[in-house]
Formats: sequence, C-alpha cells, structure tokens
Amino acid sequence: MTAALSSGHPPCGLPLRLPDAEDPLALELNESPFSPLPTVRAAMVRAVDSANRYPEFLPERFRRLIAKHLGFEEEQIIVGAGATGVIMQVLQALTCPGDRIVMASPTFDGYPIFAQMARLQPVTVPLDEQGHHDLDAMADAATDAEVVVVCRPHNPTGTVAPAEDLLRFLQRIDSGTTVLLDEAYIEFVSPRHRIHPEFLLRRFPNVVVVRTFSKAYGLAGIRTGYGICAPAMGRALWSMQLPFGATVASLAAVAASFAAEAQLRHRIGLITAERDHLRSRLWEMGVWSADTHANFVYLPAKGKLWPEVFDGTGPRVRTYSDGSARITVGNRRSTQAVLATIAAMLPSDVS
Ligand code: PMP
Repeated sequence: MTAALSSGHPPCGLPLRLPDAEDPLALELNESPFSPLPTVRAAMVRAVDSANRYPEFLPERFRRLIAKHLGFEEEQIIVGAGATGVIMQVLQALTCPGDRIVMASPTFDGYPIFAQMARLQPVTVPLDEQGHHDLDAMADAATDAEVVVVCRPHNPTGTVAPAEDLLRFLQRIDSGTTVLLDEAYIEFVSPRHRIHPEFLLRRFPNVVVVRTFSKAYGLAGIRTGYGICAPAMGRALWSMQLPFGATVASLAAVAASFAAEAQLRHRIGLITAERDHLRSRLWEMGVWSADTHANFVYLPAKGKLWPEVFDGTGPRVRTYSDGSARITVGNRRSTQAVLATIAAMLPSDVS
C-alpha cells in the first residue's frame, strides 16, 4: 500500500490517466477548449495544500461569494456538484417518487437519468422542427406535473426560447409546480436575449435558475454549479445541502474566476466567434444547423449520415441514435477538422 502510494500508481496498478486539456478533437461534451487560466490554476494548487482539512460543513462562504458577485441575497443561492448536483438537490427537496417531470425531447442526456434517480415519471414533449421548445405543449403537459424543465439555451440544439414566449409560458404554470430553468450555457448568449434572474424570480418564485462553472468558466472537472431562486425556495433547498459537499479547490477556483472575469469574457468571445465561423462555413457547404446560442452546433438527422461521417476516426462529436450530431465548438484546428471530415465524406450535395 505504501509502495503503491509513493510510486504514484493506485494499488490496482492502473496508471492514473488524465484527459488532455487542449485536445482539439475532443468535441463531445461541450467543454471549454481552454485549460484553466494561470491565476485560477494557481488558486487551485494553493487550495490543494490544505487538502488534509475538510471544507466548510455547509458552503456558507461559497454561497456568499456567488451571491455577492451576482447581487443576490445569500439565501437565494445553493451550491452543488455541477449543475447536475443542483438539479438533483432540487428534485430531492421538492418531489416525491412517482411525481411527474416534464422535459423536452431530445434534451440534455442527464435529465432522463436524474428523473430515474429521483424516481420520477418523465413526460416528454418533442421539440419543434427548428429545435425549439414547444412551450404551449409543455405548459399543457405540466398541469399535473411537479417539475418542468426548460433549458435556455437548449441542449442539444443550442436554441433559445424568445423571452416573451418564456414569460407567457411561466404565466401558464401553476405556482405549485417548480420550473427548472437550466442556464448551463447562458454566458454564451448575447445580452439582448438574456433575462435577468432577479426580474424572473420576483414574478415567478417557483423558478430555480440553474448555472454551472463547467462550460464558459472552463471548470468541468471541478464539478461546481449553483442555483438562484426566491428566498423561500432557497431555504427549502438549503435544507438539502450536502454536508462537506463543496471542495476547497472549487471555492478557490470560483473566487479566482470571478477575479478574472475580463479574461473569461475574452475567451467566451473567441468561442462564440468560432461558433459563428463554423456555422457559416457549414452553411456554405449546404449543411443546415440549428440556431445555436451555446458553445456547440447541432446538425439534425439526415438518415444515418452524421454518425457515419463522425465514425470516431477524426473529431469526436456527440452523435444520436436518430442520426443527428452535436459538435462542441473548439479552436480553429477543431473547426478545420470538423469541416474536413464533412467535406471528405460528403463530396456531393448534402442540403
Ligand atoms: N444542463 C445542461 C443543459 C447541460 O448540457 C449540462 C452538461 N452537459 C448540465 C446541465 C450539467 O453540467 P454540470 O453538471 O457539468 O454542471
């Protein structure tokens, strides 16, 4: 055991293999193409020096940091292991086994899993032809549901429900039904499409806005997300906060990230510019993609074409059983690899 620890190999003998931070072909999980900023990295390394100590029992300082940064009351913030942890906390606090949860189809792969883990009955509502939520049908389906999920932007399509449609939808939802407004990719959305959570929560205290440091902040491996909600909802959710659940490294990484907002904004600008470049090049090749506002591009099904094109030998993208594909935006080399793969496989008309 001692020998295994000192050799750097775990006792099972398998070498610890870490993912390559800057692999231009890793376009499957909507991660950031950038490795952590030097100041964020340094803060995490410093935090590791006290890894023999527990973090806070409940993440009081953590939520104060987020609340202060965003301009909310502390009790309006909950902290979790990624958006995933926040969503599970909401479901555990507010639902009982057998309750219904309404979601779009297709949606982020996590939601059917979360529903199963919380023993909920999923009710799915198809997206429209353009990859948008059918909010009227979702409101109809939500009349006897405990929770309804709206991702804005949506995953896998990247589409954003227009603000006025979302407000009309929220007016139709019973105040006893919780709306999970998943904003995992909100930092990539242009300001004119954003709705300030303060504005929403004052009118609709049944909404929980879910966000993450996994995407635009480039900290997917750190597993940190947060929820923003009305104070009464916050108190109910805080009662289900996992003891010792938020690590010292994640608190350090988030504090350092907030201090580096300008650099992060610059990175977000690079990613959204690359996204727009990729989309317009696809368009020139006759390949239609959904109107994305996130850090990925969605190609709807064309028979089984996209899974065949991206067969795993070039860029690794997410393909779906219906024949569609979702491509994370990386750097220019990623874009070139994606375009070359498509061009090689589709010499003739694909429109
Ligand atoms: N919501 C959406 C819409 C997502 O796409 C993802 C991750 N792909 C998550 C939540 C979960 O993200 P995390 O747990 O890494 O914060």
